[in-house]
Amino acid sequence: MDFSTAEKLYERLRESIPKKQLFENVPMSRYTTLHLGGPARVLCEIASPDQLNAAFAAARELDVAVTLIGNGSNLLVKDGGIPGLVIHMGDQFAELSAPVPLPDGRFAITAQAGATLQKLCNVAMDHELTGLEFASGIPGTIGGAVYMNAGAYGGEMKDVVSHVTAVECSGKNASYEIGDLRMSYRHSRFCDDEELSAITSVTVVLTKGDGETIQATMREFSARRREKQPLTLPSCGSTFRRPEGQFAGTLIDEAGLKGFRIGGACVSPLHAGFLVNDENGTAADYLALINHVQRTVQEKTGILLIPEVRILGEDAPIHNV
Ligand SMILES: Cc1cc2nc3c(=O)[nH]c(=O)nc-3n(C[C@H](O)[C@H](O)[C@H](O)COP(=O)(O)OP(=O)(O)OC[C@H]3O[C@@H](n4cnc5c(N)ncnc54)[C@H](O)[C@@H]3O)c2cc1C
Repeated sequence: MDFSTAEKLYERLRESIPKKQLFENVPMSRYTTLHLGGPARVLCEIASPDQLNAAFAAARELDVAVTLIGNGSNLLVKDGGIPGLVIHMGDQFAELSAPVPLPDGRFAITAQAGATLQKLCNVAMDHELTGLEFASGIPGTIGGAVYMNAGAYGGEMKDVVSHVTAVECSGKNASYEIGDLRMSYRHSRFCDDEELSAITSVTVVLTKGDGETIQATMREFSARRREKQPLTLPSCGSTFRRPEGQFAGTLIDEAGLKGFRIGGACVSPLHAGFLVNDENGTAADYLALINHVQRTVQEKTGILLIPEVRILGEDAPIHNV
């Protein structure tokens, strides 16, 4: 986006979005758990559906590409950053309803897309509702979790989601029942729909359970994460998808790559499925590490590991000296 379009975009956004929610040239490392990435040319924090509509309208008017982000816990932004408009759906768009009893005895909770999964898990736990224990400890927003069909410990979002509302980039409102969402392993319709859609709200349906058991299960899953995953280092969780019948971490470990480093990016010695940015690396380091791991594992096993992390943005420009 050239300077003049960026200025016009900013001014147009200012008509409906407060200044404190708008940023120019902000490093994406602030918005990703990998702490990597060059600048977003213009970034806006969304606090309401009206603001989302206004941001989409401004981008359409000026023909600017839009990127949606939640908690940035599954994102690798390249060092050249994101040249268009980034819309962040986070803690300013994070309301949750109280559980609503349904005729079949279950309970529905509706959350705005920017609420964290952990916040939703806590509400479920407080109301002794079971079904979301698997999600405790996954560090994303509810919108990101539906987009990715996040899952762990035998559960995934598709087991609990009943209904999703979204706004298409064209400004059209959309509404989907679970059967329309095409959710499968780390995938939903939003990954391949031609038109970009922002998930705005998600309704989950849960069952009454035993409060102590729910709490104990969540604690147990958190303890397992703390023991087995490098949670104190910048990462995006498992960098690669699970290949059919295998675990990416085991294949990487068996290829002798635990601790292998390129620049500031390293295969975690604790969990080989986690590629961490433990020494202020660049996205170029991280991408080179992904590439090296893919090549080495493929040479040894014939299996090509596919990144689960979503790779966004542009490479840093090369300056000739
Ligand atoms: C320590 C750690 C542990 C993890 N453990 C797990 C795990 O056990 N299981 C698991 O599945 N994942 C895990 N992850 C990965 C990550 O937390 C999930 O993929 C999560 O669902 C991403 O949510 P997010 O809000 O951070 O999305 P982001 O990373 O911000 O975005 C991911 C994708 O979702 C899209 N998106 C985000 N919000 C919206 C929205 N409102 N509307 C439309 N599109 C949207 C983005 O455009 C992007 O393509 C882990 C990550 C970390 C850092």
